[in-house]
Amino acid sequence: MIQINGLAKSYTNDSEKIEVLKDLSLTIEDHSYVSIVGPSGSGKSTLLHTIGGLEPIDRGEIWVNDQAVHKLKDKQLAKLRLKEIGYVFQQFQLLPTATALENVMMPLLNVFSSKEIKEKAKVALERVGLEHRINHLPSRLSGGEQQRVAIARAIVTNPSIILADEPTGNLDSETGEKIIGLLEEIHANDDVIVVLITHDQAIAERTDQQISLLDGKVKVATLSEL
Ligand code: ATP
Ligand code: MG
Repeated sequence: MIQINGLAKSYTNDSEKIEVLKDLSLTIEDHSYVSIVGPSGSGKSTLLHTIGGLEPIDRGEIWVNDQAVHKLKDKQLAKLRLKEIGYVFQQFQLLPTATALENVMMPLLNVFSSKEIKEKAKVALERVGLEHRINHLPSRLSGGEQQRVAIARAIVTNPSIILADEPTGNLDSETGEKIIGLLEEIHANDDVIVVLITHDQAIAERTDQQISLLDGKVKVATLSEL
């Protein structure tokens, strides 16, 4: 479960402070499929970063599976990310000099034996339908295939939460639809929470819960919108 209470987060640019998240509270139940929607600049990516412990916060509490993310030190945060969270980004963020297999092996380095790491990475690549592309560099893969590699890298650690920041933002609609289908399949088969940022209302409507951000807070739907 993800529980956020009274979260406030600001950035300071050139001594100007921007308050991005203001007293934000929400609950995401285990095994749910959730979308975060809202205008550009409303703080969607910032919210995802704070859940993953990638950004320090000003105030409030963030609980991920009974762990107080807001209190964890760097080393504990790294452990939480490794054990609990798989991240998927709009720009894929693969290492360009490493093959698909090597990219997927990366989160497991120093955790298992090299034989086990290779085996787990191969299984993850099979799950995303890329067993025939494992030795390709990212530059030799299509956008959709690169995003599949990124999803394999996110699931290879068996996380309990997948955080996806506009995973279809750089893909055409047909390829994007397949990537969403893959995330939905992973959600259905694994005991995971999937939190997906999207600008696509049709994709958001397929999720169990839509979290709509406006002006740094969760927007409460009015009766006419229900
Ligand atoms: P988009 O839909 O365009 O991706 P978003 O809802 O994800 O937008 P965020 O990226 O969370 O929005 O940004 C929220 C606000 O915080 C914006 O005004 C942005 O300029 C600012 N911001 C985001 N990251 C940083 C940063 N690292 N340093 C300073 N300001 C930042
Ligand atoms: Mg964003």
